[in-house]
Amino acid sequence: MSKITLGIIGSGQLGSMLCQAAQKLNVKTVVISDDEYGPAKNFSSKFIFTKYNDQKNIQEFIKIVDVVTYEFENIPIDILEQIDKEKKVLPNPNINKIVQNRRLEKTFVNDLGIQTTKWTFVEKKEDILNNKSLLPGILKTNTLGYDGHGQFVLNNLEDVKKNWCFTADFILEKKVNLKKEISVIITRYQNGTISTYEPIENVHENQILKHSKIPANINQKIYRECLDNTKKIADCLNYVGTMCVEYFLDGNDNILVNEIAPRVHNSGHLTINAFNISQFEGHIRAVCNLNMIEPIKVSNAEMINILGKEIENYKKKTFSENEFFFDYKKKEIKEKRKMGHLTILKK
Ligand code: ADP
Ligand code: MG
Repeated sequence: MSKITLGIIGSGQLGSMLCQAAQKLNVKTVVISDDEYGPAKNFSSKFIFTKYNDQKNIQEFIKIVDVVTYEFENIPIDILEQIDKEKKVLPNPNINKIVQNRRLEKTFVNDLGIQTTKWTFVEKKEDILNNKSLLPGILKTNTLGYDGHGQFVLNNLEDVKKNWCFTADFILEKKVNLKKEISVIITRYQNGTISTYEPIENVHENQILKHSKIPANINQKIYRECLDNTKKIADCLNYVGTMCVEYFLDGNDNILVNEIAPRVHNSGHLTINAFNISQFEGHIRAVCNLNMIEPIKVSNAEMINILGKEIENYKKKTFSENEFFFDYKKKEIKEKRKMGHLTILKK
């Protein structure tokens, strides 16, 4: 029986699912969060509600855990670095520093010789005027974006004249004519071995993930290329844990990295039911240095995200034996908020 206590920063649905996977492996969890009612509270062995800059609580957290991981990337980097000085934080905070900053992230990927969308860093209006070829494009805040927050579509120069207040740094990305979106989830262990899941095909609505499915409808070449690129990215980051790379497939079958998630990922929820080992269990095994289990698919699957008020209908539904409903039990329903998901196993 393992005697490890794992600290998890963040208490959303990803944290909940990590706690449940840890339970199965007899790993104790201490969740630290600035959301008093975070869903992971229901599944953690211990829950610390705190502001992330409250030194007393951070110190208590550090004292009682053996190793630390996180469920979202927008954690103040100095806090991660402080914790890492006393208890190992995995994935390493340096990785988070790159990935929580779109400019550094895209530069890192491009430097590996891997394509992204065409992009430029934007501090002021002139930076857009000097990069007209990137229109129509999407202006994204350089940091702190998620689920489409902090994104603005710029169709033409007229849009630039609107009231953009350049109070934050942005990047401007050329809008891609999307043929498909794909994500690849892998788990990299402390000895450098990597276990992989097959590419997952994703459909977004209003910049939020709506559906994911396996198998992805892609050819062998694209399958191999996105798997190889994901492994290369993980190796070059010396990554430990489960991570995801989101890809765009454009009209010419170019495969472009959209972004790297240094954590378990929404598109991987179907791994809970469709594989012998979920992305969450893989993550716990890797960061706690337990032995690797190679994922084996038991079924094809589709996952549907349940947003906002949709959850009310799902709660009343009955499901067949190939359908798995997950209610995140969030205290408050908010429009477009991820409230739960449904996985349907398919032939
Ligand atoms: P977030 O950090 O909020 O997940 P993303 O950059 O992944 O932001 O964008 C969310 C979604 O918006 C993408 O999955 C895609 O559907 C759409 N999108 C983002 N950037 C582009 C782009 N350059 N061209 C076309 N669609 C895009
Ligand atoms: Mg994304």
